[in-house]
Amino acid sequence: MRDGQLYEVKGASKVFSKGGTEVRAVDNVSLSIAAGEFVALEGPSGSGKTTLLQLLGALDRPSNGSVFFEGRDLATLRDNDLAELRLRAFGFVFQHFNLIPTLTAVQNVEVALAPLGVPRSELRERSHGLLSEVGLDERASHLPSQLSGGEQQRVAIARALVVEPRVILADEPTGNLDTKTGSDVIDLLAGLAKLVDNTGPYLLPRGKSHMLKMTLGTRAA
Ligand code: ADP
Ligand code: MG
Repeated sequence: MRDGQLYEVKGASKVFSKGGTEVRAVDNVSLSIAAGEFVALEGPSGSGKTTLLQLLGALDRPSNGSVFFEGRDLATLRDNDLAELRLRAFGFVFQHFNLIPTLTAVQNVEVALAPLGVPRSELRERSHGLLSEVGLDERASHLPSQLSGGEQQRVAIARALVVEPRVILADEPTGNLDTKTGSDVIDLLAGLAKLVDNTGPYLLPRGKSHMLKMTLGTRAA
């Protein structure tokens, strides 16, 4: 393990059986990601991007190979430790925003903090802080249906960030947005690579970015 690596994925595969046939959704993928890096996954539909993100987010386990996060093999962690990582270490952002429709923007951010036992006053303060960070404080009391797609995704990003995760894992975060709004969301996420790094215990060069290409479950570049 090299010092400072956030992720080391070693020969990870994920095999699903579908109607009697095996699908190698992720096929022997190895990669390293350092703290502060901004990594994009590119590949056609079905190439294994979502499956790989789920392995990185400890939402699923590899069938073979290993995923190390901060030096710990995720396969060796107990359920409690995995739950703790999912709650605090990883912030998830999805294509369809996944906001709760009956809650306002600020309440949608607060729900991420609810399981952490944060006092009520701090809940509100931190959630407003994050909404300001993503440029949405004025929309705090709006319901998701009163927000544009780009605004909803920014609320979702604020919700992901409010727990001060060490990683943001975003699956097609611009998939439901027009090109301009999507590119604003990518700029926001790219800028956050620094913000997240600031809160972590890492002292690495910031702003590094690279592209990983996936083809049929394997890493093409
Ligand atoms: P992408 O996100 O790049 O579109 P996915 O990771 O969603 O790709 O899927 C990769 C392959 O794995 C696809 O062939 C998909 O049908 C298959 N797959 C994904 N999840 C499952 C599952 N839970 N059960 C069976 N097959 C799956
Ligand atoms: Mg996908």
